[in-house]
Amino acid sequence: MVVEPVDFYGMSPEDILKYLPRKNCGGCGKSRCEEFAGSLSKGESEIKECPEIGLEMKRSLEGGLSIRLEVHEADFTMSTVSEQLIPVNDPTPDSPVLVTGNSNVTLYVLRLIFERAPNVSAWIIPTDTKGFTIDHVMSMGVMTPMTVMNAISTSGIVSRVNSKIMIIPGLCEGLERKIETITKWKVIVGPKSGFELPAYLTQMAEEN
Ligand code: SF4
Repeated sequence: MVVEPVDFYGMSPEDILKYLPRKNCGGCGKSRCEEFAGSLSKGESEIKECPEIGLEMKRSLEGGLSIRLEVHEADFTMSTVSEQLIPVNDPTPDSPVLVTGNSNVTLYVLRLIFERAPNVSAWIIPTDTKGFTIDHVMSMGVMTPMTVMNAISTSGIVSRVNSKIMIIPGLCEGLERKIETITKWKVIVGPKSGFELPAYLTQMAEEN
């Protein structure tokens, strides 16, 4: 069985548009940025065709858009990763902390995404979601403030970073206040699509 690409919540045109310059200048050959975003999401254009986009954002968007997945479910179903803290691209104490599930599928895809966006670093903390992927953790009730608290404690992340700020997947929206209460960390709800993460983190760094 093959995991359908939709299971990975690829970037929609609306997702992509958030990271385009939105000048509607026509430099990419499209009359509007919306049109270019739609073309990118279908793989019909390349991000380098927009001359207005900055280098860092270009690299980050390319990372998320360049992956065409065909993961065989039988290879991973319900299997979990053993790591409690996964550094990607040499993170520093100021790099963002991403909380996710412990599904091997989820971590396989996230590693692939960050491999394609080597300009973006992060700390990834897998929580014990019994091997369920992020699109199922809310309906199955397996990601809770307590599982996040346990993951934070066992990961040793507190001694590795300067700020107690975590980013949870957009699909886990609704848990943020309870996680903040229990962990005493600030919680930011990130994007629904993991493919959006490099661009999301790049934009966040540029705004700070
Ligand atoms: S070149 Fe870039 S900014 Fe101009 S319309 Fe195309 S996507 Fe928008």
